[in-house]
Amino acid sequence: MSEHLTPVIIVGARGRMGRTLIREVTQSEELVLTGAVDRSGGPGRGMDAGQVAGTVDIGVTVTDDLRPRRAVVVDFSLPGATVGNIQRCVEAGVPLVLGTTGIDSQAREALAAAAKTIPIVSDANFSVGIALLSRLAGLAARALGQSWDAEILEIHHKHKRDAPSGTALRLGKAVAKATDRKLADHLCSERSGSAGEPRKEGEIGIVALRGGDSAGEHTLMFLAEGERIELTHRASDRAIFARGALRAARWVESRKPGLYSMADVLGLADLH
Ligand code: NAD
Repeated sequence: MSEHLTPVIIVGARGRMGRTLIREVTQSEELVLTGAVDRSGGPGRGMDAGQVAGTVDIGVTVTDDLRPRRAVVVDFSLPGATVGNIQRCVEAGVPLVLGTTGIDSQAREALAAAAKTIPIVSDANFSVGIALLSRLAGLAARALGQSWDAEILEIHHKHKRDAPSGTALRLGKAVAKATDRKLADHLCSERSGSAGEPRKEGEIGIVALRGGDSAGEHTLMFLAEGERIELTHRASDRAIFARGALRAARWVESRKPGLYSMADVLGLADLH
């Protein structure tokens, strides 16, 4: 049993990820749940967080008001909540682990500004495997060069709201950066309607499929004349994201202010 328990507050507690996070915290010997927050209305408000997550009562009630105090906030809610949640963390001076994807430029700016005063780990994918795949994407792209066509295929469950996934975009950025390109200038995520037009040189394609209950699959392909490389990561259980985020919560608790990623948590940031 660890001597120090990291107190965590989960935002988005009633959601798929929120419930998984609650279950993982209750099973952890290193963390303790001190708060659970979700939006106003809907079922679950006022209920015990354990009941919401389908476990035993844990004595923490789900509220609709984030007022953090001496805890790490772990936010897996929806993009509309991000800026407000960042502000609450800054006001309280508490660390933040942000897993919400599809956030806009205003939220990204708020994140960068907040990181001057509090430590934040923000990542579109908290799995250990994806952190490594992102590094491999850059290494492979640099070794192969632009003459190999890069294409990314991602699959997620039918409830996912943003497309393409934040992870697919990150893989695309890693490929672009390693080959001195900007993803925004080379991204192609829509090919219908351009019949007869061949693939543009230097294009980085991303295709998003939605359906069923897939927790997330990403394949990065490098295609050349006569050969193809495929790097695939398949998530079969969303608990991997929760475990990664909670590992980040432990790690960020004692960090200096700054904006970190899962690669920093895992010590992969300097892998070249
Ligand atoms: P979900 O729709 O099941 O849950 C979202 C929850 O957030 C809901 O309970 C909703 O009521 C709540 N919410 C909405 N507005 C809120 C507010 N203002 N304050 C507090 N709570 C609010 O979605 P999900 O599948 O659990 O995913 C949540 C987010 O996490 C999404 O952005 C998803 O893409 C992202 N995600 C990230 C990773 C990662 O590794 N970074 C992995 C999986 C999912």
